[in-house]
Amino acid sequence: MNKALRKAVIAGNWKMNKTPAEAKELIEGIKPLVGGAGCGVVVCVPYVDLAAAMEATRGTNIGVGAENCHWEKSGAFTGEISADMLAAMGVQYVIIGHSERRTYFGETDVTVNKRVRAALDSGLTVILCVGEYLEQREQGVTSELVAMQTKIALGGVSKEELGKIIIAYEPVWAIGTGKTATAAQADEVCATIRATVKELYGEDSANALTVQYGGSMNAKNAAELLDQPNVDGGLIGGASLKPADFAEIVKAASR
Ligand code: PEP
Repeated sequence: MNKALRKAVIAGNWKMNKTPAEAKELIEGIKPLVGGAGCGVVVCVPYVDLAAAMEATRGTNIGVGAENCHWEKSGAFTGEISADMLAAMGVQYVIIGHSERRTYFGETDVTVNKRVRAALDSGLTVILCVGEYLEQREQGVTSELVAMQTKIALGGVSKEELGKIIIAYEPVWAIGTGKTATAAQADEVCATIRATVKELYGEDSANALTVQYGGSMNAKNAAELLDQPNVDGGLIGGASLKPADFAEIVKAASR
């Protein structure tokens, strides 16, 4: 499987951090450091920061994403935001199925699939997160679990639509903990995701799929992780809030 066939993408996940004014300041800090990037660069920000992020990134190589979206187009869903609303703002990306959504907000594989469907219908590019808890890794079910999460999330997604999907392998035990998967562990599960996509859509689609690793990736460990044959980029939490660190990861993905 040839890595050159696919695009590396480094996406920041800001989580519940930054006011609009702080978002503008952070993007102004990132902009000059990633201008010549040889990979895709995306910042996924809280809903309230989207307008500021769109404005601050206009005319740059930085794409903007949201951190979730609802599956209905509109209606009585207090507190929710639809994919259509994001698309209408010019937002291009949306994270779906992040483990923090699954763990704290009751997201299931089924609701993840509904959100994926809605995001694609609105023309958004999806960053779909899958990954195992530590107990599941210890039980030896990582491959089966990640393959199942991938299959359910992609239910009803056509081969053509797969071009609008990035899959992020995020072992839950590595997110925000400072514990990173080893490069070999990351590569192995990213390869499993690719094999699952091959089974569903064929070799061309699997070869073209961008599979990111996420989980305490930082300026120091990024190069080794990104050098793996099946790791095409990263979903970055903590380090995406520090311009120099984020830029260092972008640089590692650009080599
Ligand atoms: C994330 O939020 O997707 C993530 C990978 O966080 P961190 O980089 O902080 O582990």
